[in-house]
Amino acid sequence: MVRVDFNMDNIQKCLCPECPVQAKSECVKVKLNELSSKSSGSPGKDDVPGLYCSTGKATCEDLDPGEMCQCTKCEVFREYNLDKHKPGSYFCAIGASD
Ligand code: SF4
Ligand code: SF4
Repeated sequence: MVRVDFNMDNIQKCLCPECPVQAKSECVKVKLNELSSKSSGSPGKDDVPGLYCSTGKATCEDLDPGEMCQCTKCEVFREYNLDKHKPGSYFCAIGASD
């Protein structure tokens, strides 16, 4: 069992915002715009279109899991040894790391 911390450090390291699975999602674009215009306070889990290894399935429903997941290239993935846990990728579609 691994619990990936939902914090600013991990949000900034997460590669999901640049992932092709999310590239065409209007819902993700809106969330990213809102995040970048937010100047203070910590974002909530539903505000961040990423860090799905921590928070579980994406709330946006217009993702394309036919594209390639970027998680194995991510620093958070290495730090928490997510390759040793399931599902090991596509956390946005399958759910958080267990
Ligand atoms: S969990 Fe993987 S597939 Fe989903 S958005 Fe992040 S990098 Fe892409
Ligand atoms: S392992 Fe995937 S979901 Fe988790 S922080 Fe990295 S890119 Fe984001």
